[in-house]
Formats: sequence, structure tokens, C-alpha cells
Amino acid sequence: MDAERQRERLVSTLQAEGVLRSVRVARALRAVPRHLFVAEPGLGYIDRPVGIGQGQTISAPHMVAIMGEALDLRPGQRVLEVGAGSGYHAAVAAELVRPGGQVLSIERFPELADRARANLRRAGVHEVEVVEGDGGEGWPEGAPYDRVYLTCAAPDIPQPLLDQLAPDGILLAPLGPREEQVLTRVRRGPQGWVREELGGCVFVPLVGRFGFSA
Ligand code: SAH
Repeated sequence: MDAERQRERLVSTLQAEGVLRSVRVARALRAVPRHLFVAEPGLGYIDRPVGIGQGQTISAPHMVAIMGEALDLRPGQRVLEVGAGSGYHAAVAAELVRPGGQVLSIERFPELADRARANLRRAGVHEVEVVEGDGGEGWPEGAPYDRVYLTCAAPDIPQPLLDQLAPDGILLAPLGPREEQVLTRVRRGPQGWVREELGGCVFVPLVGRFGFSA
């Protein structure tokens, strides 16, 4: 089966499971050729995490779908991603903020950052900039961001990321201990921060000042 048909089948499955609810997120998953971000042949359209080197993984498609729905990404938005990995998730986010939007993604491994840039180029994605650093610190030069999300687990939300979030922004992160986390959405409400827990999940750790040790 060719990649496009495999991708279509994956999207239909995620819709049937109720994970993919909006037309926009479904369209974004259909648009991004995930196999270009997964080195092992044949694993691009299986709904599970896949190794991408340096002990890291590209998230399972259902998790990218869940986060895509929860973030409510809109054209023109500025997005900060922590954990570029393969670049796939950033490519999906870029699709959702097109036209006019921009995704900045921070990766701590220079080797992965390089590969993410190459993958994104190959996939024809031009709205993502990948930078190297400790994503817990955010990237103040580009702030404020309409949306901030972490693709790695943190014990709690790093304060710099809250500081760099736009007043009506949304932050999404897997929060909790190293072994398992709760996908948590945070927005600023009239009385302060409002937190919602969206369900259990397991991500690789955020390593650095606001995260875990390597
Ligand atoms: N979004 C990625 C998933 C990557 S897994 C994809 O679609 O492929 C999480 C990534 O977070 C890993 O690449 C890991 O190296 C990175 N990471 C962990 N701690 C980090 C930190 N402090 N700053 C930036 N990136 C970090």
C-alpha cells in the first residue's frame, strides 16, 4: 500500500476511535508525510511511538492528534514547541497555523535538531524553525507565543514558558513523574491560571534545569 493510502487508513482509524474529532486536525495529519520523519521503513503509519535516535521517540499519531485537538491551533498563530525530535509534530502544528503562522521548536540534542531540519526540508515544511537549547527556558526572543507545548515530560510547568505565553494563550504539557504523566492544559483565566487534566500519558523526560537529570 502506498504512503498516502496508509496515512488515510490511519486517519480513519483515529477518527473511528474518537481521538480525531475536527476536520482541521484530520486534514493536517493527512497532509504531513510521517514516513519521511521515521527512519525505519514500514513504521510510519503504525499508531505507536518509534525510536528516532539518542534514546528519544517520535510520539504515536494518536497523541499528536489528541494534542492537536487540545491546542486549538489557528492560522497566523505563533507556536513554541519544546522537543523537536524528528520534527514531525512541529510539521503538523505548522500545517494548522498556515497561512501566516510560525512554529519555533527547541531541541537539546544538536544531532536531532539537524535531522529535524533535514526532515522538515524534505517534507517541504517552511514554517518551522528548529533551534538548539534547553526548552525549559523557552525562547524569549520570539515571545509572546499564542501556543506553547511540550513533547517531553516535566515535573511541573517551567516558569519561563508561562512567562512567554500570550495573555489569551494555551499551554499543553505532559506533567508528572518520570514514569507516567497527565496531559495538562493551562490557560490564563480572569482569576489566574486554569488547569485542566486531559488524561494519562507517557513521554520521554524533559532533561534540564526545569526537568529531570539525564
Ligand atoms: N515532537 C517530537 C517528539 C520528540 S520526543 C517528534 O515529533 O518527533 C521529545 C524530545 O524532547 C526529544 O527529542 C528530546 O531530546 C527533547 N528534549 C528533552 N529535554 C529537552 C529540553 N530540555 N529542551 C529541548 N528538548 C528537549
